[in-house]
Amino acid sequence: MSYRGRFAPSPTGDLHEGSLLAAVASWLRARQQGGTWLVRVDDIDPPREVPGSTASILSTLASLALHPDEPVWLQSTREGAYRDAFQSLRAGGLVYECWCSRADLAAGGGVHHGSCLSPPRDRQPAWRLRVGDAVIAWHDLVAGRQTWPVADGGDFVVLRADRLWSYQLACAVDDAAQGISEVVRGRDLIDSTPRQILLQRLLGLPAPAYAHLPLLVDASGGKLAKSTRAPAVDADGLPALRRTLTRLGLPGAPDSDAATMLCWALPRFDLASLTGKVAIHMAEPL
Ligand code: GLU
Repeated sequence: MSYRGRFAPSPTGDLHEGSLLAAVASWLRARQQGGTWLVRVDDIDPPREVPGSTASILSTLASLALHPDEPVWLQSTREGAYRDAFQSLRAGGLVYECWCSRADLAAGGGVHHGSCLSPPRDRQPAWRLRVGDAVIAWHDLVAGRQTWPVADGGDFVVLRADRLWSYQLACAVDDAAQGISEVVRGRDLIDSTPRQILLQRLLGLPAPAYAHLPLLVDASGGKLAKSTRAPAVDADGLPALRRTLTRLGLPGAPDSDAATMLCWALPRFDLASLTGKVAIHMAEPL
């Protein structure tokens, strides 16, 4: 099977250096394998979307010579595929309606198993996947051997009460639909992986390999999220690209344009050099 990788930003703000790490590492990995690199915009959560951020993220990627090999997919156009997947889970009795509010959930310990804790209410329910006693294991190319009892987190939502598809469902469906063979992304998403693998199994879809990169953290050890103080990769992204390469174990990139820096990094990048690394501090000397 030929290598297909992807970068899947959410349009919740400008591209920040934490996301750039995932973009560059996934691009380098795909290029090293002679594979295909895709960009998919996870725009399935309009309430969290920041207007203009899809365009800004795509233009920042282009300015750094991170060009996808195929047209960009927008998850907002994939409604039919998510509905089909949901109907197949529903037909198999694998999902159930849930009317729990946050308060109900907190009172029940926050974890669902097999049924809703609340009586039906006069509003739309969310739909949860019955995870049963599934234990999902995989060999993560950065984080090492992983074994996750999905039941610990309880039955999770695949269709939200506000009729929006969950990230888990959309990601599992689209990674398979795009033929992704390896997912390279931040470690903040590692607890989503067993859920996505479980969904792929239940839907009869192939699961990709995974590599969860160390997370870029601020001085206090907090994740660099778009919602907090993450510095955006601004108009002149070259210094940010240079810092990103250093964080990926490649200091000393030539003082040149983005394409030349990436070309220089290509034969030097070694995903295995990140093995076991959980976090990279922003403040680490570069
Ligand atoms: N859209 C998700 C995020 O930006 C990442 C999804 C993924 O790589 O699976 O956090």
